[in-house]
Amino acid sequence: MDFYPVAIEKLIEEFAKLPSIGYKTAQRLTLHILNLPKEEVEEFAHALIQARGTIKYCSVCGNYTDKDPCAICGNPNRDKGIICVVEQPKDIMTMEKVREFNGTYHVLHGNISPMAGRGPNDIRLKELISRMTGEVKEVIVATNPNIEGEATAMYISKILKPLGVKVTRIAHGVPVGGDLEYADEVTLSKALEGRKEI
Ligand code: ZN
Repeated sequence: MDFYPVAIEKLIEEFAKLPSIGYKTAQRLTLHILNLPKEEVEEFAHALIQARGTIKYCSVCGNYTDKDPCAICGNPNRDKGIICVVEQPKDIMTMEKVREFNGTYHVLHGNISPMAGRGPNDIRLKELISRMTGEVKEVIVATNPNIEGEATAMYISKILKPLGVKVTRIAHGVPVGGDLEYADEVTLSKALEGRKEI
């Protein structure tokens, strides 16, 4: 493909590396960028570098943050006795939309999937166990309602229960085989309400 100058080809290539972006979309985005005023492109580039450069993981919960601990872990009004375990940082944003949960979070950054060769050591489980001080009364497992999410929930229950922690699982309302991200607020609110011990 030597139809485009090298700089354009390079930009298309970079866009095409992003998830869900095929070559055609990458091409469209590149041509869009080329038509923008220079200042807007500089702002966009700066935002990318700024985000990647300043955002890190919270040392407590694993959420994205620009200060450590993050705004949720550092908030004295949040109940440190309840920890909601999620797979990804985006799930915290989804849960926060419900506005009913006042505990804290723990991001696993993945799930257990024997099929894909991902075990307990591939997610932030050790970090979760180390948070089980006497202060924690309940761990709500809000992993996705699919095979991997269920396997992860069962494993967490198995290792935390002997420590005397109540482990619950969000249960009702969330569609099976779905993704937490796509559950609407009412569904998620019901799911939280209907959680049960596992
Ligand atoms: Zn945090």
